[in-house]
Amino acid sequence: MYQNLALYIDGEFISGDGRKTEPVTNPATLEVLGHLPHATTADLDRALNSAARAFETWRHSSPMVRSEILRKVGQLSRDRAQEIGRNMTLDQGKPLAEAVGEIVSCADHADWHAEECRRIYGRVILPRSPEVRQMVLREPVGVCAAFTPWNFPYNQAIRKVCAAIGAGCTIILKGPEDTPSAVMAIAQMFHDAGLPPGVLNIVWGVPSEVSDHLVRSPIVRKVSFTGSVPVGKHLAALAGAHMKRVTMELGGHSPVLVFDDADVPRAAKMLAKFKLRNAGQVCVSPTRFYVHDKVYDKFMSDFTDTLKSVVVGNGLEPETQMGPLAHARRVPVMEQFVQNAIELGGKVVLGGERLEGVGHFFKPTVVTDLPEHAMLMTEEPFGPIAPIARFSDTDDVIRRANSLPFGLSSYVFTNSLQTATKVSNALEAGMVNINHFGSALPETPFGGIKDSGIGSEGGLETFDGYLVTKFVTHV
Ligand code: NAD
Repeated sequence: MYQNLALYIDGEFISGDGRKTEPVTNPATLEVLGHLPHATTADLDRALNSAARAFETWRHSSPMVRSEILRKVGQLSRDRAQEIGRNMTLDQGKPLAEAVGEIVSCADHADWHAEECRRIYGRVILPRSPEVRQMVLREPVGVCAAFTPWNFPYNQAIRKVCAAIGAGCTIILKGPEDTPSAVMAIAQMFHDAGLPPGVLNIVWGVPSEVSDHLVRSPIVRKVSFTGSVPVGKHLAALAGAHMKRVTMELGGHSPVLVFDDADVPRAAKMLAKFKLRNAGQVCVSPTRFYVHDKVYDKFMSDFTDTLKSVVVGNGLEPETQMGPLAHARRVPVMEQFVQNAIELGGKVVLGGERLEGVGHFFKPTVVTDLPEHAMLMTEEPFGPIAPIARFSDTDDVIRRANSLPFGLSSYVFTNSLQTATKVSNALEAGMVNINHFGSALPETPFGGIKDSGIGSEGGLETFDGYLVTKFVTHV
């Protein structure tokens, strides 16, 4: 049994009923799992009107009510993690343990927002004259339109939904059409937790058509997107043309700096496992490896040995450690990265090709000796490929790490406090991880700078994108 697929509008689950549908496919077996209904223009308008209507009540709801619903969703996430995780493995491909782990860790996101939504404060500003009172209020921005991707279907959606709902906004979410089960499960949980109709609406369709309709609508006051840089720039420009607020969580090309004083075997093992998480389809995946000359050989042998030991296969098999790529279209993209590397003199040390047989599988791949302008060093691979380069000078490697227009995550391995401080001050990135991987917890802000985005999700910053500031003064 796979997840029932539907639209969720004004508190109702709406199935096909003659609407256009698209098949949802298992990337490991190519089996068709179900058919996803596309929203018609009338459905989108109904979602907009229902979100606008619900906002008039929800904006004044007690934070205690919002908090209670979010807490229930946290608990339901834990209760249903196995079932939701299994469906996510079926449509997205990641190993079952990763999928279930995503759901369970997202329960913490719901809990965090349940707690923090009770702490949305304003302030009082001392007046120049004693009879004046001056207050700063934080109010929900209004109806939000959100667009979430297929790599972490549950995580990416629940963060936006919890932040919007906790702030007193209403939201229309277009989830990923290729991996819809987790977003359907979110709708079911909020429904079961007693969320009033219209506060959350889920729609599906051709992404550019749905976003165009929603972002242009005067009802929508805020746009939140997680996905690729080109689509993010397009949506931010469209939102800007209509003076709407945006949160943009976009791609990166995260540099990893391994210094000669690092614990190299530990770094190599940790990085190899982290690299293959979700088959490398992670926006904060380590993607450009710079390893100090003095430890390069040791790092390479430990790193490739760990990659070789990883079992690739269907995510439902208990021994699988890396699943397929989520789409057919990502496999030729991986081949293109490798082909470009070879043409520019790069050496494929491991993998470099698709796995024969059914499914969108690509082998864990290591490429070295690349020039800085190679595709792999300038474009996010978003797959199981690790390009590895050497360095010998700290200032030079900082320059290379900062040389791209992206600024999402970054990783440093060193046992020198001086180096850690220097490099974390110098790296142009929204997140710097030193000697471990610590991003994406609910209590810590997650977001990029430069082309990697605008705004943060999580942390105390989580509601900033969903609130507007109003100044009130009276005598
Ligand atoms: P893509 O750019 O076609 O799509 C990325 C996501 O945006 C998808 O979920 C898609 O449905 C959505 N999308 C596309 N056009 C849209 C539009 N006009 N309006 C609203 N949503 C739209 O790329 P892809 O082939 O799906 O993925 C490849 C690239 O996307 C990767 O290389 C990676 O850089 C990026 N990506 C990033 C993240 C992230 O978490 N930052 C997640 C998924 C994909």
